[in-house]
Amino acid sequence: MITEMYRVDGAHLNKEKIEKAASILRAGGLVGFPTETVYGLGGDGLNPDSAKAIYAAKGRPSDNPLILHIASRAELAPLVAEVPASAEKLMDEFWPGPMTLVFKKSQIVPLETTGGLETVAIRMPSHPVARALIEAAGVPIAAPSANTSGRPSPTQAAHVWEDMQGRIPMILDGGEVGIGLESTIIDLTGAEPTVLRPGYITPAMIEEIVGHTELDLASLGQPEPGMRPKAPGMKYRHYAPKAKMTLVDGEQSAVCQKILELAESAEENGKRVRIICTEETASCFAGFDVACAGKRSEPEEIAHNLFRILRDSDHDGVDILLSETFGETELGQAIMNRLMKAAGYHIIYI
Ligand code: AMP
Ligand code: MG
Repeated sequence: MITEMYRVDGAHLNKEKIEKAASILRAGGLVGFPTETVYGLGGDGLNPDSAKAIYAAKGRPSDNPLILHIASRAELAPLVAEVPASAEKLMDEFWPGPMTLVFKKSQIVPLETTGGLETVAIRMPSHPVARALIEAAGVPIAAPSANTSGRPSPTQAAHVWEDMQGRIPMILDGGEVGIGLESTIIDLTGAEPTVLRPGYITPAMIEEIVGHTELDLASLGQPEPGMRPKAPGMKYRHYAPKAKMTLVDGEQSAVCQKILELAESAEENGKRVRIICTEETASCFAGFDVACAGKRSEPEEIAHNLFRILRDSDHDGVDILLSETFGETELGQAIMNRLMKAAGYHIIYI
């Protein structure tokens, strides 16, 4: 299959290309497109064959449900069995934006889209290209992140091209995404709102709107055998760079010291080493290959850069990636959720 890629943002959205993408979606085809979180791999959310095509293009296990993307609140009601009061409040506050809500599904949502679940995850993105595409398609768009299953999520169209070229007919290039981490997923089908995947919208922000929230613990650390995360996707290895990645957690100067030791010994063994550092720690690593993720005091910046840094390490043939940790803030915990998976939970506490 030939993949076409078009730049569509800028002063005026390229309506003609967006209409072409929408007609591909309506005919059951797939389109890569930008959202404010990461790039999505979109298909018609009400067409079971589109869901199957998404799983096939990503190499994604078909029990890992897809998020439906809508452009207006009016599109929600037909997709869900009920809208709890907590959902109304959260949507008023955070939609459009990086928050996904899980509802009981209605009959029209196919089980292929929900990975066999009776619930459905729905989000209203704020990115103008995503919104224009959903409106033009006239159907909810099912879209997981547009990476091959297991790889870091794409934050630029070039990342989507890398993974999906030859597998899908079209990619809409809207430049680099703003946030760079996937949406926060909140399950509203139980007694209490429960965060299934941490993200840019933090537990404190959610609690301010709906009071108490639970956190699905299985989504955070390494799931113990028998522990089943409520978001099925959280159990899979994810975000993995080709390099072997080690995280070092502890007091800053001790962390730098340990990373230096690990870097030196790996280089002595002929390995290509890269250190993921911050502006605060960069000076410790003079002479080493570093990727600076941003300022520790600005976790938004680190979230924005993280997936690109992981992909760059693949292009540059890095064998060993070493990184400090970022768990001090709530957004930092969402970053750590991704980083721990990327490192296969390989972390040294000092
Ligand atoms: P991605 O689209 O790649 O960001 O992954 C979507 C995430 O949403 C995965 O972790 C899914 O398991 C999760 N998800 C989607 N639908 C549901 C649902 N109905 N219930 C729980 N988790 C869901
Ligand atoms: Mg994903």
